[in-house]
Amino acid sequence: MALVSATEMLQKAVEGHYAVGQFNINNLEWTKAILLTAQEVNSPVILGVSEGAGKYMGGYDVVVNMVKGLIKDQNITVPVALHLDHGSYDHCYKCLEAGFSSIMFDGSHYSIEENVEKTTELVKAAHDKGVSIEAEVGSIGGEEDGVVGMGECADPADCKKIADLGVDFLAAGIGNIHGKYPANWKGLQFDVLAAVQEKTGTLPLVLHGGTGIPDDMIKKAITLGVAKINVNTECQLVFAEATRKYIEAGKDLEGKGFDPRKLLAPGYEAIKAKVKEKMELFGSVNKA
Ligand SMILES: [Zn+2]
Repeated sequence: MALVSATEMLQKAVEGHYAVGQFNINNLEWTKAILLTAQEVNSPVILGVSEGAGKYMGGYDVVVNMVKGLIKDQNITVPVALHLDHGSYDHCYKCLEAGFSSIMFDGSHYSIEENVEKTTELVKAAHDKGVSIEAEVGSIGGEEDGVVGMGECADPADCKKIADLGVDFLAAGIGNIHGKYPANWKGLQFDVLAAVQEKTGTLPLVLHGGTGIPDDMIKKAITLGVAKINVNTECQLVFAEATRKYIEAGKDLEGKGFDPRKLLAPGYEAIKAKVKEKMELFGSVNKA
């Protein structure tokens, strides 16, 4: 199947009361692990690419062609969206040009007026190409490619303002943060989420910073309209852990254990297991 926009899969998720995972990719192993797992459990999937990861992989054309190549050669038939994560204004256009099927414009650091102006323009540019677009209101805390947010909660009235511009799904800060959560984290602010949903109706909502949010909070967020959950750090942690164990056990020194196909295999399998676990938790299994 060709790349699809994320609009239809997320509208279905809202109706079916489940969420689709956005799993960020960093390289070939990551991408293959996520796509093959989605196919195995028959789940729709969104591949997230941050600007930093896009640069790391060699550029957006590399990313688009790698993903399209894997879909073709690995016979992936579940819906796959390729999504720019936290895109700046310029990079949104670069990804539209390169063939991404979904973009996020992170205008949360602009004033609401400027966020509205730029979002309006990008909604048109994306929709002209059949590409879905996510916007963000209320900066999501933690660090994302060097941009540090404070984890503020979104103003529901601002959410309504941005939703009305025609974005396909909306990220609203509800106390969630990127990366590992601190021990004194207060948890998701469900009253804010409920107030946002009341204003935005059936528009799919997005939960960033999915790593370390307790399962029961994830499930509750889904009941309040969250239909897309971003997972990034968690895959990085299990990949690093599995790779470290392999090396600490001295396996890279045995026979041809240094072969990258062997060295990276435990991390690859760890990502597969984590993605499967998340798809089961989010309820997207067999929803392709
Ligand atoms: Zn994010």
